[in-house]
Amino acid sequence: MRTSFRLVAWLALAPGAAACGSGGPPAPLLLISVDGLRHDYLDKTDLPHLARLVREGVRASLVPAFPTKTFPNHYTIVTGLYPEEHGIVANTMYDAALDAWFSMSNRAAVQDGRWWGGEPIWITAERAGWRTAPLFWPGSEAEIRGLRPTHWVPFDNTMPNETRIDSVLAWLDAPGAVRPVFLTLYVSTVDVAGHDHGPESAELVAALQDLDALVERLLAGLERRQLLDEMNIVLVSDHGHAATSPDRVIVIDDLLPAGLARIVDWSPVLQLRPEPGLEDSVYRVLAGRHPHLQVYRRADVPAHLHYRANPRIQPIVAIADEGWSITTRRRLRERPAALMGANHGWDPALPSMWGTFLAVGPAFRQGLVGDPVASIHLYELMCRLLNLTPAPNSGSPDSTAWMLVGRATAEKGNSEK
Ligand code: AMP
Ligand code: ZN
Ligand code: ZN
Repeated sequence: MRTSFRLVAWLALAPGAAACGSGGPPAPLLLISVDGLRHDYLDKTDLPHLARLVREGVRASLVPAFPTKTFPNHYTIVTGLYPEEHGIVANTMYDAALDAWFSMSNRAAVQDGRWWGGEPIWITAERAGWRTAPLFWPGSEAEIRGLRPTHWVPFDNTMPNETRIDSVLAWLDAPGAVRPVFLTLYVSTVDVAGHDHGPESAELVAALQDLDALVERLLAGLERRQLLDEMNIVLVSDHGHAATSPDRVIVIDDLLPAGLARIVDWSPVLQLRPEPGLEDSVYRVLAGRHPHLQVYRRADVPAHLHYRANPRIQPIVAIADEGWSITTRRRLRERPAALMGANHGWDPALPSMWGTFLAVGPAFRQGLVGDPVASIHLYELMCRLLNLTPAPNSGSPDSTAWMLVGRATAEKGNSEK
């Protein structure tokens, strides 16, 4: 896969170098999300095709944003903004100004641009005159800042993963100027196995082996098109997993009398919208009531979580401790199995919440295992790969410079393998 002219190819594409001057399209970038691929899952079993990516590229743990859920984190990766900045503050939200609800399965909401702040990279690329194809990436179905990606498809989790790969390969078959420069793939099977069976299960290992076969299919397709040496591939996950248990449950109706507050989102981050005038009562009733539930007013959420400055964050936020679930007495009785397996959503500082970062291609150094990288920096990294001027964001290009060919090398903590 690696060839001696890779370095030459990358230098030609470096900002300010020939590609910009000549006006040609940058090398395509494929961003793959494997939902819930915890940072250590690749070490669980023999995965030869993923191991090839590690051997030929860069690997690190990916530190997500809070809350460590799917929609907030996918959108942080492509905007370089914290959820409090881009507005996707949870998978399920209520916006009082819009008087509207958002959930992942609400097609009208997901396609409504009013929910999506900031500028995702496909819009940055389209504004620069390039085509993009973000298949199934959260936000890709909405018009944002008056624009849409060239190719997008309504989310359909019944579409087989093989078909998703073949769609991306077909888009890459377009010639020169009409070939997308930014494409995405999304795979949910590892997350589902983790939720249902837990991080230590045989089912999780089977999902990892299926993922490896998908990587084989993708690499073979790219190799057949002689694209493998030319394009950059970045594989990420939105969060990790921590095991849950029916023995670690906070029953909210035992703590909070009915009628005091509306529950907007559930577990492990409870979002409470108190009835008018009852915010103080709700806080007083809940604060300190359960040893494994930390209760905050929005303005007092710990600063390192970057989770205050958006009205979609509800007035009271209560966060369960790692591995603890929040539910109702009725759900506990009727669906105890839902409290086994694993979940995510907790503090990104917990290693169990860290995802995976792999990157391979002409821009990336080879066989490098680095320190954890925060996902907030990936928008800047991807703009650099595509020679785009980034929109304002909270990431820093310096944080990922160590992984690039021809950039600062041998920074502390990063070891060539
Ligand atoms: P989570 O439990 O937060 O990891 O959410 C994972 C689930 O999000 C997946 O199993 C999908 O059902 C759903 N999902 C992922 N991407 C999308 C999307 N673009 N649109 C709607 N639902 C999605
Ligand atoms: Zn997820
Ligand atoms: Zn999940």
